[in-house]
Amino acid sequence: MPLPGGIKHVSELQVEGHRVFVRVDFNVPLDKATRKITDDSRITATLPTIRHLIERGARIVLGSHLGRPDGQVKPELSLEPVAARLAELLSIDVVLADEPVGDGARKVVSDLRDGQVAMLENLRFHPGEEANDESFSRSLASYCDIYVNDAFGTAHRAHASTAGMVKFVSEKGAGFVMAKEIEFLSRLLGEVDRPYVAVLGGAKVSDKIEVLDALLERVNAILIGGAMANTFLEAQGKSVGKSKVEKDRLPNARNFLRKAVEKQIKVHLPTDVVVAMSLDDEAGAKVVQIDAIPPGAMALDIGPASIENFRKVLAAARTVFWNGPMGVFEKPKFAAGTVAVARTLAENKLALTVVGGGDSAAAIVQAGLADKVSHVSTGGGASLEFVQGLDLPGIAALRP
Ligand code: ADP
Ligand code: MG
Repeated sequence: MPLPGGIKHVSELQVEGHRVFVRVDFNVPLDKATRKITDDSRITATLPTIRHLIERGARIVLGSHLGRPDGQVKPELSLEPVAARLAELLSIDVVLADEPVGDGARKVVSDLRDGQVAMLENLRFHPGEEANDESFSRSLASYCDIYVNDAFGTAHRAHASTAGMVKFVSEKGAGFVMAKEIEFLSRLLGEVDRPYVAVLGGAKVSDKIEVLDALLERVNAILIGGAMANTFLEAQGKSVGKSKVEKDRLPNARNFLRKAVEKQIKVHLPTDVVVAMSLDDEAGAKVVQIDAIPPGAMALDIGPASIENFRKVLAAARTVFWNGPMGVFEKPKFAAGTVAVARTLAENKLALTVVGGGDSAAAIVQAGLADKVSHVSTGGGASLEFVQGLDLPGIAALRP
């Protein structure tokens, strides 16, 4: 199936003997003391694209950022451990240039033979990356004949390696990760099977009010859990004890609830919650009705009646977008709501089920259900912006 907007898939490109720059997302978590990679899933995610290019005899130049060096060379943020891990996974040499651009980088690229892989040093060691500087973009572009973006997680940023350099390269396309993201997230913006239900949770209303407002234009119902629900409950005049509430977002919450009524979109909030005296008070966890939260307690998960109601709505849905856990899922006593949502999505085989967001993705992986939903998006901010209907610079740049 062709990608929306005429974007080419990497498998449609004639890459043999050509230098292919691949923007990857190798921004992996590193252990502070040992600089060992603590989770290499961002590296393994790109292996299909890199292997494809190796098999087709491309000369591969990988570019990524790591952490926030803010335009300066910070040796502790070198991509060296990443290059080493990639070499191990591919069982081939991966040459790391000692700079993102310059004579050393140019030499590494020009020494490449067909099927070989090189990596540029952390692109954010140069201020031109985040500034989307033209001369830095031109330097990067001079290292390749073909541009491929496989870094969905940074596609909402207009940086040199995600946007600026692309206009100076004649052929371009999406890698396997990027293509799958575009394919599934685009389906949420088109004609969907209904009911279309959104489940929103997580930490903050302020992170997600734009996506909530945008979803009101598309969905049939919205379920709200997590810390975010507290602000909505308080906006409705309920007492939520010591729960996290964003006071400055109460007007946003009221406004959202009013618009939902006008549009006749049903908003489901928790009717009961699991409370405790603090985040560490797992022993004191208990279920209370929403109008009986003790003054000193915090709501840390949705309760069993709310789970039942959310399950019913989700089981009847034919399209679901889920972002944000229903509670403090990192702690077993406060994980039931999040696990129940994950399970209900996994069981609903009739629906298109899309999960987006860093912690939501971690939660569904933790529940062992990631391969039971239609798509788990790897981009946090990027997937929210996409679902909002915004045009992401890194995707716009791939269109002909
Ligand atoms: P995502 O990364 O999926 O977008 P967020 O970053 O918005 O999700 O939110 C995830 C965080 O929200 C988790 O660390 C979780 O512990 C926290 N959280 C969820 N519900 C609550 C709650 N009721 N009280 C406090 N924190 C919560
Ligand atoms: Mg998060």
